[in-house]
Amino acid sequence: MSEQAKVGFIGLGMMGYPMAARVAAAGNEVFVQDADENRIKQFIEEHGGKRFDESTAKSVSVVITMLPNSKIVETVLLGGDGKSGWASKLSKESTVIDMSSSEPARSRDLAQLLKNMGLQYLDAPVSGGVARAVSGKLAILVGGDSDLLERERGLLSTMGTAILHIGPAGAGHAAKALNNYVSAAGLVATVEALQIAKKFGIEPAVMTDVLNSSSGRSNTSENKVKQFMLSESFGSGFALQLMTKDLNIAFALSEAVGYEMQMGASCVELWNKAAAVSTPATDHTEMYRILAEKL
Ligand code: NAD
Repeated sequence: MSEQAKVGFIGLGMMGYPMAARVAAAGNEVFVQDADENRIKQFIEEHGGKRFDESTAKSVSVVITMLPNSKIVETVLLGGDGKSGWASKLSKESTVIDMSSSEPARSRDLAQLLKNMGLQYLDAPVSGGVARAVSGKLAILVGGDSDLLERERGLLSTMGTAILHIGPAGAGHAAKALNNYVSAAGLVATVEALQIAKKFGIEPAVMTDVLNSSSGRSNTSENKVKQFMLSESFGSGFALQLMTKDLNIAFALSEAVGYEMQMGASCVELWNKAAAVSTPATDHTEMYRILAEKL
């Protein structure tokens, strides 16, 4: 992709909004779309760009999706009938980049369907959360053709600093789910240690300092415990139900490859129980509160 391009961006949520803002700030012409009309209006007011619609879809060379899950990505791109979605309105040779945390097997199938329509596809899920989406320092895990990645590297580098080619289509999504399994398991271990420490009489903040200066430190202990859990702001911007979706993707992947997750099985069960007592607005750092009560 040349330095400046016409980019469609579908999904202006907690992550998509700041990511699209970075794409626009780099001088690209951005065409935005979201199910929530207010997000589109706010984006155009704050960052410029135009609406991604029937009249502008043909003009973009790349479409980025940043949506909750595979089902929604497929509906948006293919339509309920498999052929009336946005993909059918794009120019031939355009590239679709799914940056959502989607299901790897479905992404592989989607890549083939789009190829049959004359389009190119990369899966490029991200890690780093809202803060790094805002600063443009995400890790981007790419599945798909490596030459295509090189063509789109400039665009991706407006949003991320570590851009890793993982393997063929779907590999980025597989790696993302596995990363989030490790992250979610680490979060549970950290929260359990804090709860036990508290019952023993060690202040959770002191225990957090212990972890952060010792071998138990993690992204949770360094960037979530004091900031979002102990402060009770629970405002990381990553929903508990989205994290749970990722864990179930990792679990399905373990079944698909025939490797039994042992600790993973109880981890997924715990997050599924927490998701059942949550709403879509519940932040994943509320696991601190939820695990204090017995699930
Ligand atoms: P979000 O719920 O904040 O945003 C999703 C956006 O998609 C919303 O603006 C919603 O209106 C829009 N949307 C839903 N259905 C739509 C449709 N049919 N057509 C158009 N727009 C539609 O979610 P998020 O936190 O931004 O996460 C997006 C993806 O990124 C998810 O797959 C998530 O797992 C992943 N992710 C999130 C984080 C995080 O910290 N929040 C970090 C890494 C990856």
